[in-house]
Amino acid sequence: MFPHRHLLGIEQLSQTDIITILDLAEKYADLNRQQHKHLDVLSGLTQINMFFENSTRTQASFEIAGKRLGADVMNMAMQASSIKKGETLIDTALTLNAMHPDLLVVRHPHSGAVQLLSEKVNCAVLNAGDGRHEHPTQALLDALTIRRSKGRLHRLTIAICGDIAHSRVARSNMFLLGKMENRVRLVGPKTLMPSGVDKLGVEVTDDMAAGLEGADVVMMLRLQKERMDGGFIPSEREYYHRWGLDEAKLSNARPDAIVMHPGPMNRGVEIDGTLADDINRSVIQEQVEMGVAVRMAAMELLTQNLRRDTA
Ligand code: ASP
Repeated sequence: MFPHRHLLGIEQLSQTDIITILDLAEKYADLNRQQHKHLDVLSGLTQINMFFENSTRTQASFEIAGKRLGADVMNMAMQASSIKKGETLIDTALTLNAMHPDLLVVRHPHSGAVQLLSEKVNCAVLNAGDGRHEHPTQALLDALTIRRSKGRLHRLTIAICGDIAHSRVARSNMFLLGKMENRVRLVGPKTLMPSGVDKLGVEVTDDMAAGLEGADVVMMLRLQKERMDGGFIPSEREYYHRWGLDEAKLSNARPDAIVMHPGPMNRGVEIDGTLADDINRSVIQEQVEMGVAVRMAAMELLTQNLRRDTA
């Protein structure tokens, strides 16, 4: 039983909620490796994907997830929509709501926009990333990837490195990994640490060698240049030298440490391209694979609630 109407963030989820999603996603990960991948779990339901910000992986995987479960999936091209003509987010939401969707998947550049929208519609809303606030399905797919490769999701040391301040991925992961009782370290330049970081219950350092010491998981983040309005780093070359992940810096972590990145990657800026492609260390492709499974699970659980509401 999943007690939530929407999936807006990890902050609202309990340990049990997280495990419920991951356990169901594990089944879908198996299904996705079969030749026949189609089920009727969402048959008859309408899923609308509204992306107000660019996306490759997230949009594609929500679409594949819905289709594999039999939903009617529609992608709204928000650049081409009435938003460009000045319609507000709420007007767009109400218009779509009148078409009776069952699932709305929303990405928006403003923190809190997805929650606002969820208050105006009758269907289940999934946050596909809002500003620098949360990206819950990313944290869930990261968690599933970690659990599969480490055999557990607790008592691990996880270094989250790079542009923490602008990253909804980092925020959602901090909530999730903290709830599952892991040791979380934030590593990056002081200019890219969020304000109030000392209150987050995590360790913080600007030294990569110290931050990676003994880590089981090294999670790299993209430099979010589109959210920077000034000089946060000296230069990309200098950034790579101090905070870019390469073999030498990774040698501070445990010998069996895995390397993660949510994508899209800036190769040669936050991560060495060869290391990112090294299947003995990098689980970046598995993260993408688990993304589909986690999104299938989340949509199934939310629609079970819808069906209960209307029963
Ligand atoms: N794809 C992730 C996000 O949408 C990470 C990134 O863009 O750097 O937040």
